[in-house]
Amino acid sequence: MTSDLTATNRVLVVDDDAMLIGEYLRCLGEGFEPDSATTTLGDLEKVLFGEDTDERGAAKFDVQSRNQGKSAVEAVREAVKIGKPYSIVFLDIRMPPGIDGIEAARQIRELDRNVNIVIVTGSLSPEPEDLGKEIPPADRIFFFKKPFHAVECRQLAAALCGKWHSDLALRRANDVLEQRVWERTEALHKLAYYDPVTRLPNRLKLLDELDLLIDAPEGKERQTALLLLDIDRFSFLNETMGYKSGTELLTAIGKRLVRACNDLPSKEKCIVGRFGADEFACLIPGIKDHNVLEEFVESIRRSVEEPFLLNSRELFLKCSIGVAWHPVHGSDAKTVFSCAEAALHRSMRQPARCITWYHREMQDRAKYKFDLQSELRQALEVGEIVTWFQPQLSLKTGKIAGVEALARWERPDGTIVQPVDFVPLSEEMGVSDLLFESVLRYVSSSVCRWKENHKWDIPVSVNLSAHQLRNRKLVETIKSILENRDVEQNLLNLELTETVLLEDLTIAEPVLRDLSNYGVGIHIDDFGTGYSSLSYLADLPVQTLKIDQSFVARVTESETNAKVVQAIIALGKAMDLEVVAEGVETEQQLLLVTRYGCDLAQGFFIGKPMNEADFLGWCHTVDQTTNDLPVLPDFAADIA
Ligand code: C2E
Ligand code: MG
Ligand code: MG
Repeated sequence: MTSDLTATNRVLVVDDDAMLIGEYLRCLGEGFEPDSATTTLGDLEKVLFGEDTDERGAAKFDVQSRNQGKSAVEAVREAVKIGKPYSIVFLDIRMPPGIDGIEAARQIRELDRNVNIVIVTGSLSPEPEDLGKEIPPADRIFFFKKPFHAVECRQLAAALCGKWHSDLALRRANDVLEQRVWERTEALHKLAYYDPVTRLPNRLKLLDELDLLIDAPEGKERQTALLLLDIDRFSFLNETMGYKSGTELLTAIGKRLVRACNDLPSKEKCIVGRFGADEFACLIPGIKDHNVLEEFVESIRRSVEEPFLLNSRELFLKCSIGVAWHPVHGSDAKTVFSCAEAALHRSMRQPARCITWYHREMQDRAKYKFDLQSELRQALEVGEIVTWFQPQLSLKTGKIAGVEALARWERPDGTIVQPVDFVPLSEEMGVSDLLFESVLRYVSSSVCRWKENHKWDIPVSVNLSAHQLRNRKLVETIKSILENRDVEQNLLNLELTETVLLEDLTIAEPVLRDLSNYGVGIHIDDFGTGYSSLSYLADLPVQTLKIDQSFVARVTESETNAKVVQAIIALGKAMDLEVVAEGVETEQQLLLVTRYGCDLAQGFFIGKPMNEADFLGWCHTVDQTTNDLPVLPDFAADIA
């Protein structure tokens, strides 16, 4: 019950002596005129009560009386109940035949922790300090010696009412403060454990939840699966649709996952969370049957790949999924999480494979990766990263018209590590700039020698990775390396994969412009894999498209495949771009891409990547030989 507690000074006086009650009422009453009127009393009351005084500055007390301990206790109970508690209870110590003042005080204290209790007694027994301990708190129990002077009584009442009001104000301030602290803690907790966009648990919370599931008494017997899911090409979608729609989409995905999880025929509740920009997770406890889990994971995939309606348009998503589970893949949340992450990354790297189930072989691979990681930095320092060269043939002249520089890690024991194993690693470790510089230095030194010894004038292509586009000093670095070896900028092409380019066009575009203004060539690598709208190509300073190997590999398989390659080449030509066919492995492939108007070809059929000495030898033999024309497959004759 609430009431305006500040407005009243409620006082209860308890004594079995009616005369004394009369004295209390007189001295605490409104018209009280002290025998020897002191201004001190008026001043005290004015200071303590301000507005709550009469025109003479005297405090107003609302005084009630009882003549027995029991009835006093009842009065306090009622006052608390109606929300009008007393500020002071004056209690006579002896009130036969009922309970004495001490017992009454004890019972009153149980009902009201804040009331000031004044024990009024002729002798100081029991000891005042014992009473403070017995009926705490000690600062709310007082002794008042009988007989008392009326002014003394009024002063005490005024002081204790003032104290009661300031205690109340302090308690209220504390309550407000506590409420605020609680709200802030709650908000911080939300921030620390929940994703603000989807309001789903974040990585930290998911890990906590998984640990709770594992540590629960039944955790040992039950299997808990962790499914991680990444939305393919989300950053591209986010950029093209706008941030707001991107956020809407993430929220919609979260809701859909929650709905799909609710459909799981399990007694235990699944937990859906978001643990990265476009990465979601489902914790699935109590798996009894692997087939059920497989079906469930499949249904999660389907639910995300159902079209989303966004800005009145249907949007089709693809996702990559990785799954690991406790206790098979780890005994704690962190280990299970890292296994599921490894499986997810495997799915992301292989677009054809949407769901990856974690298995031991991946763990071995992770260890291999870990070992490589510690060696890579040193390898870069001591020059174990070398460059091999793969020739590109002009399909017009049959002569070498380009070279691609491909990094190789030659380990002291003679083994060669392939770029697929250390290029992504260099990105993860933040040393991809060092890798790029070491390849470019290697290439520049080689070209410098070739110029001197072989009158070399053919451009060499070097691959750029995503991270390099964020390096503000890229142009400066390239310039200084080329100038240092006296290599002209038109002898260098830079290859960027289409996916890297599309990942962040706003960052890529100005960098490409700077590079192009400087005079190096820009080639788009692995073209055709990026699902791009192609319109972006027209605005970029690009000279060459390299058709992805996967198209070339299938070109002779069917008429449709052949037509796809033909269309890509036609598109490049229409945009005034030079077109290179990558991964040419057979004579027939070479012939077809030549027929379709490709400008250059690169592939094992022409020459594999070779170290510098082998490459120079290869160049020498090509100069001396001429090839017979290869034979076309049957259907190709119709197309050509
Ligand atoms: P990429 O730039 O598309 O290079 C072509 C890859 O295809 C090379 O693999 C090459 O050996 C291989 N290849 C060429 N012709 C054929 C063929 O006829 N059949 C088949 N099956 N494969 C062929 P490699 O050298 O293993 O390089 C793989 C990828 O690693 C490269 O793909 C490139 O993206 C990356 N990479 C290589 N060196 C570097 C580098 O110095 N920096 C960066 N950032 N990435 C590099
Ligand atoms: Mg390349
Ligand atoms: Mg390529």
